[in-house]
Amino acid sequence: MGQAPTTVMDFDTALATVLEHASHVKLPAVERVTLESSRGRVLAEEVRADREQPPFDRSTRDGFAVRAADMTGQAPLRIVGQVRAGEQWRGGPMESGCAIEIMTGAPVPAGADAVVMVEHVERANDAIQRISGRTLRAGENIVPHGAEAHAGDLVLSPGTPMHAAEIALAASCGYAELAVFARPMVSVVATGDELVEVSELPEPWQIRNSNGYALRALVEEAGGFGGRLKVARDLREEVWERVAQGRMWNLMVFSGGVSMGEYDLVEEVLEDFGAEFFFTGVKMQPGRPVVFGRLPERLTGNGAGPECYFFGLPGNPVSTQVTFHCFVEPLLRAMCGAGVSGPRFVQATLAEDVAGRPELTRVLPALLRYDRLRPEVKIVGWQGSGDLGANARANCYAVLPPDRERFAGGDIITVLLR
Ligand code: AMP
Ligand code: MG
Repeated sequence: MGQAPTTVMDFDTALATVLEHASHVKLPAVERVTLESSRGRVLAEEVRADREQPPFDRSTRDGFAVRAADMTGQAPLRIVGQVRAGEQWRGGPMESGCAIEIMTGAPVPAGADAVVMVEHVERANDAIQRISGRTLRAGENIVPHGAEAHAGDLVLSPGTPMHAAEIALAASCGYAELAVFARPMVSVVATGDELVEVSELPEPWQIRNSNGYALRALVEEAGGFGGRLKVARDLREEVWERVAQGRMWNLMVFSGGVSMGEYDLVEEVLEDFGAEFFFTGVKMQPGRPVVFGRLPERLTGNGAGPECYFFGLPGNPVSTQVTFHCFVEPLLRAMCGAGVSGPRFVQATLAEDVAGRPELTRVLPALLRYDRLRPEVKIVGWQGSGDLGANARANCYAVLPPDRERFAGGDIITVLLR
């Protein structure tokens, strides 16, 4: 029976360790999906403009296509026609002294070099006249063809996570399908004799397995495919079986069984599988017993499988989620092909005084009020790292570094977005 070596790191070193591994993970396989189902996936090909963007000189206003030089005086310009979005002017090059009524998004006719806004002219019969005081430059209210992209230009690079903005751009370039990276397969294993499933009625001394559900949701939100394995009781054989099963995938995430207790077996069993441990604890609160390591690639014999990273997260539900956001999420995003990004830290003003913990980085459930000028963060009152309600009332975590005993209301602090 092995005893895993102990490596306790400070928060920043632990995060740097994860990010170092994140920068070396193997890229997943590539698959093709429809544009619509690419949301949340990571792009695995280059998206290039298939034509100029915009493809024609585009009017950005409702108004009149004119020659700017004709608008310097007060002479009326004769309206010779109209062009709407989706149409093309077919009347030949527009001549001096003329105006063509034009709608937003329509191609500006040849011969015109500016669009005067409908609000800036007076219209009488079939002529317009500049309202005095209004001026017009050549090129005004026109986006020239090719100003946004030329045919063949790279507009999205591999490794880009696909959200609405990127999907819209790919659609504008004619990509009905996209090559994306396959989602890494992540097994979620909750451990503990006290756990029952959500469909079962717990005895007064039992606890429902909420972490299994939280972790699966977190995995999927980060872009992985999450599979919840059966709960492992605190028995070596059960933990062993789950590791043998889970190691066939790319990443294993355990909850519970990583503290110092007699029945905390996860590290021991992983060690039996030849695990390498990068850290076995982090000086943080909550989340101290978090474990990060890797099982080597093994092609034959017991526990055969590919290289597989693992995290052992503490079982207390808030600790589980905090440590997922801090450490699992950045590695998982990299495994999705998105490169090294995150966790997402921002700065905000602390609403009220709060105590620091010398030696420990505190990562506390908090509520960030999104204010345009002064985002403010307030620590949510909680009963400790088992308080799922407090965690759900929060929308972020306040990160308090270990070097201070007290943080005062009005201080600028770091916030971890979730
Ligand atoms: P452990 O890390 O195994 O010592 O567990 C610490 C605490 O977290 C215990 O009070 C457990 O009841 C609780 N806990 C462990 N696993 C889960 C789980 N899957 N869902 C909810 N609570 C859990
Ligand atoms: Mg336990």
